[in-house]
Amino acid sequence: MTYIHNTIVKLQKTSPAQAEFYQAVEEILDSLQPILETNDKYKQHAIIERIVEPERQIMFRVPWVDDQGQVQVNKGYRVEFNSALGPYKGGLRFHPSVNASIIKFLGFEQIFKNALTGLPIGGGKGGANFDPKGKSDGEIMRFCQSFINELYRHIGPTCDVPAGDIGVGAREIGYMFGQYKRLTGRYDGVFTGKSLLWGGSLVRKEATGYGCVYFAQNMLEDNGLSLSGKTCLVSGAGNVAIYTIEKLYELGAKPITCSDSNGTIYHETGIDLATLKTLKEVRKVRLEEYLTEHPDACYIPASDYPQDGHAVWRFPAQLAFPCATQNELTEQDAQALIANGIIGVSEGANMPSTQDAVEVFLAAKIYYGPGKAANAGGVATSQLEMAQNASMQTWSFDEVDEKLKVIMKNIYRNARDTAAEFGEPHNLVLGANIAGFRKVADAMIEQGVV
Ligand code: GLU
Repeated sequence: MTYIHNTIVKLQKTSPAQAEFYQAVEEILDSLQPILETNDKYKQHAIIERIVEPERQIMFRVPWVDDQGQVQVNKGYRVEFNSALGPYKGGLRFHPSVNASIIKFLGFEQIFKNALTGLPIGGGKGGANFDPKGKSDGEIMRFCQSFINELYRHIGPTCDVPAGDIGVGAREIGYMFGQYKRLTGRYDGVFTGKSLLWGGSLVRKEATGYGCVYFAQNMLEDNGLSLSGKTCLVSGAGNVAIYTIEKLYELGAKPITCSDSNGTIYHETGIDLATLKTLKEVRKVRLEEYLTEHPDACYIPASDYPQDGHAVWRFPAQLAFPCATQNELTEQDAQALIANGIIGVSEGANMPSTQDAVEVFLAAKIYYGPGKAANAGGVATSQLEMAQNASMQTWSFDEVDEKLKVIMKNIYRNARDTAAEFGEPHNLVLGANIAGFRKVADAMIEQGVV
């Protein structure tokens, strides 16, 4: 469709060198064809042109002093992408790979993901090209304080509410909140993913992983299948992967892999969750140390990965849960999964499968839950944290978990029903993208040209 093609070409001129952002835009626009063709209003209101342009982008210097007394400088970002449905909402990513393209792709995805939750939250994302690995607690604190010295003026509980993402957990949120409070004199719900001691919500830590498994459960049960007894591949070893593995065990499945940037663990009898938590949540060391307690497991260093993909996707299993990072599952990985008998994929990470890999899944007609839908449980539970903060209430673990289950069921049904409405039942990419888009686009039209 020339309209979509022209939008991408224009973006390449106005926002050069942002490959991941174009990838996310193209993926969405491709699946919007059926709704754009039948609804002139979106063109008339220039919704596509407006939706691909962030409402506001903040880029700033983050200077800090390391433990040797040396001044370091990083680059900070906050992209306030779309506020049609509510305050900008989305995490902060601290990782050396962070640049404007990565933050914009994440912010763009966040708009539709947040819309799919059915909750009143807009889309935003931020972060810095800071590598928390190997940094002392003092260095992390000084970096977070400096980051907030600029960002504090742009955020607030009713305008922009950051949270965690890769490299940002409760510790970093604590340091950022502390600095925000000092600068503004306000104790308000400006961040989610806070410690349970001072305003955090139960289940927030577990929510992305749990939600991703609830999504898979809905997708399978709706088709007369179940998670029970299924062998599962999980990638990643962070928050999302850990709580995906935890919930898979609870529901009777067997996760046999996990990975970090240095390598992959394959444990035929099932990943030992207690060991994984100790290594990653307490000791914060490399996954390779898993072998010390479990010499019967297998470790494949990243240097031994197949050139066209990742070791973690090359084992026989029935379900796959990509929970690491963007583009971690290639076309060849997808083909290997299919050849090894995979029946379903539920994405805990943001855009983990390349566009070619997604095509392979759709062509093979496996059950495929795209990240925008399958990993929305994290941000949905963030909104539940905001609701508790605003009403000065604290809900029990079961109360929040029940709400999360209902939200994930509704997201699945919304994607499924929208896919059917547009003549492609089973295509949850199309269903999720159109459902999310329609809500945001209609809200934008109702709010006028702003
Ligand atoms: N970073 C998470 C995501 O990708 C959570 C964002 C939030 O809780 O605001 O959705």
